[in-house]
Amino acid sequence: MARVAYPLPEEGAARQTVMWSGGLPEQTSGTRSREVNIAGAIIATAREEAACLAGGRVVRMGVRIGADCNIDLAALDHALMSLRSGTDLDRVDIHLMPCSRRNLCHKCGCEFTASYCGQPCPQCTSPNSELIAGDELEVAFIEVERP
Ligand SMILES: [Zn+2]
Repeated sequence: MARVAYPLPEEGAARQTVMWSGGLPEQTSGTRSREVNIAGAIIATAREEAACLAGGRVVRMGVRIGADCNIDLAALDHALMSLRSGTDLDRVDIHLMPCSRRNLCHKCGCEFTASYCGQPCPQCTSPNSELIAGDELEVAFIEVERP
């Protein structure tokens, strides 16, 4: 058995952003929360990957979740567990990787962890900064085992 871990490309068409409907109005079906929808999308991504493996299997995957997505990680984790319980993906180790919001200061170029929009730069106190991380929802890596 050979284990292969590969980070997915950060840019370009091959980037595997988890597709979810978070930007749309709440689903009308009632009990399906946003976290359940996202868990479904993550599992679909893992399944797509597994389908390309010809005998191999997905053993581990990491999902990067930005603070700005406002996802309840405990609820997402629970949804992931229950959705894949008893399926072929039951044993996949899914790592949720929370990412804090990071801003880039336009004045001095400092990158800093920010908890709200317009938070002053810790270096020069300028409120003029731009969000550069914290809104991601994407697969960071997938580790597969090949026969
Ligand atoms: Zn600054």
